[in-house]
Amino acid sequence: MRRERKRNDLGFENWLLCDFHIHTKISDGSLPLEKVVDLYGEKGFDVISIADHILDEKTREERQKKREPTLSLTREDFPNYLRLLWKEEKRAWERYRMLLIPAVELTNNQDMYHILAIDIKEYIEPALPVERIVEEIHRQEAIAIACHPHRKETEHDQPYIHLWENHKKYSDLFDAWEVANRDDLFNIIGLQKFNYIANSDFHEAEHLYSWKSLIRAEKNTEAVKAAIRENKEIAIYLFRKNKLIEE
Ligand code: ZN
Ligand code: ZN
Repeated sequence: MRRERKRNDLGFENWLLCDFHIHTKISDGSLPLEKVVDLYGEKGFDVISIADHILDEKTREERQKKREPTLSLTREDFPNYLRLLWKEEKRAWERYRMLLIPAVELTNNQDMYHILAIDIKEYIEPALPVERIVEEIHRQEAIAIACHPHRKETEHDQPYIHLWENHKKYSDLFDAWEVANRDDLFNIIGLQKFNYIANSDFHEAEHLYSWKSLIRAEKNTEAVKAAIRENKEIAIYLFRKNKLIEE
């Protein structure tokens, strides 16, 4: 470890500073994987999940027809993606004592739902129905998060509200729902008393300053997953540029 982080100055002793929703250049983020890991490591984060997009095949084909970049992992890319993440996991731990948990964002833009699979081990097809996706995530002992489930104040045309529109049906399905995503807070998720989590949906450097989760648990993947499932000792925290944590 290069230096002790300064979070204890803020009174976060025993709390892990976490962000489980981070994209890199591997899909539609603007920064390469290594740079993203360094950015979070330098800021003293304890736990991150890199969660690049797996886009449904129909949307991918539509983009290919229009000669647009697909900005998505494919089934063929997936083993190499995991290899890259495990390599970075090792470096993140050795250099920053930061835990990196491999993830993906299953991105279904036909039926309008996005689901995070945290600690994923095998490829999952995003065109599957929601229940089947979550079943598959749980079969892999991974964590299923409902992403940005409601309209965002920052993006009025945010169309991915299938999960919210069917929230009664899905209420017991997910391990947690994003109660905050980057700059937006979804009060409605709090009102439902759903398990909650807050993430940045990081695509570029300035997204670092956004809603995050604090979790009081041991710094290992199983303990963090258990805390999310139990929704115990989790707090949401707005990570801002702050003199106390800046160099
Ligand atoms: Zn999304
Ligand atoms: Zn995302």
